[in-house]
Amino acid sequence: MKKLIKKSIMDFSSYDAKRDLTGTVLDANENFKDYFKIYKDEIMEELEKLNINRYPEFDGGRLRLDLACYAGLKPSNIIIGNGSDELISIIVNSFIDNGDIIVTASPTFSMYEIYGKIAGGKTIYIDSDENFNVNPEDIIKSANENNAKIVFICNPNNPTGTVFKEEELIKIIENVSSLVVIDEAYYEYFGKTVIDKVNEYKNLIVLRTLSKAFGLAGARVGYGASSIDIIDILFSVKPPYNMNSLSTAYGLVFLRHRDEILKDVSEIIKRREKLYSEFKNAKGIKAYKSGANFLLIELKDSEKIFNKLLKKDLRVRKYGSGQLKNFLRITIGSEETNNLLIKLIKEGYFDQEI
Ligand code: PMP
Repeated sequence: MKKLIKKSIMDFSSYDAKRDLTGTVLDANENFKDYFKIYKDEIMEELEKLNINRYPEFDGGRLRLDLACYAGLKPSNIIIGNGSDELISIIVNSFIDNGDIIVTASPTFSMYEIYGKIAGGKTIYIDSDENFNVNPEDIIKSANENNAKIVFICNPNNPTGTVFKEEELIKIIENVSSLVVIDEAYYEYFGKTVIDKVNEYKNLIVLRTLSKAFGLAGARVGYGASSIDIIDILFSVKPPYNMNSLSTAYGLVFLRHRDEILKDVSEIIKRREKLYSEFKNAKGIKAYKSGANFLLIELKDSEKIFNKLLKKDLRVRKYGSGQLKNFLRITIGSEETNNLLIKLIKEGYFDQEI
């Protein structure tokens, strides 16, 4: 059987995504709030309108319109995916042939490389500096020297929270012959976007998701924005009914309530800044400024602090080995959770006696 498997995935092992969701879950950059509880009646109304015995609309129908409106674009500029994860896969499958090159920064979201590898591509990582900033010139140079097909830029970057300035992104887009994918999964927590540039730059795709700020991680609704030509290509590769009707109904209702949801985003931003300054002033911890709904901190022994936090039922993200060995990524949660973390910092809970 093994000899039938495609070469590019020979060394893959299955992804262990089992999670413990008890206590306070701060490990996956989700929204701590479950908006279903607030919008339940409207969601039920939308669900009742569905013909669940029929296939969903090929293009996401009304949701495509509403997302276009939210993004300030036309529906023909938008493709909806079963999470933006699926869109990364669709993009890679549309552009990467065996041996093709992807350029991205390090560290960043791992799915660019994983989908790239499945397609037979190779990812070249551009090193970041001690603050996890990446020089756009280095990206441009590598993309051009290696004839890269795709440059992936996560902005704000997961897991570091670092951001590129708009002029840096434009410089990259203008100076490479590759497709440039800007992943704006955390856009709402940053507030700056290049989505308005997709008709101007024919090599640009912007990815977004309703999984983070909109609290819809379980429904799997992501969207991509680009020029009509690229959207047409992506439509020709996507599975015909990739968006199920139930998730689409959720998306419609949640987007309708964007003003309230975005108010919650501004509260999360305030809490992020408060927690950042506490971590920054704490001894023995390096905190990284973040444009997203999480903070990355560097410790002397992250495993030890991770276990101490678990004792308080706080589940944060740790990184086993490699570049981020002694780092923890903490999703910003409720006011109560933030206050607890601040209290723990002040009490010396994060102090390292090694
Ligand atoms: N891009 C980035 C940068 C992410 O952090 C994530 C989720 N962790 C995704 C894309 C995928 O999001 P989803 O598939 O839930 O839309």
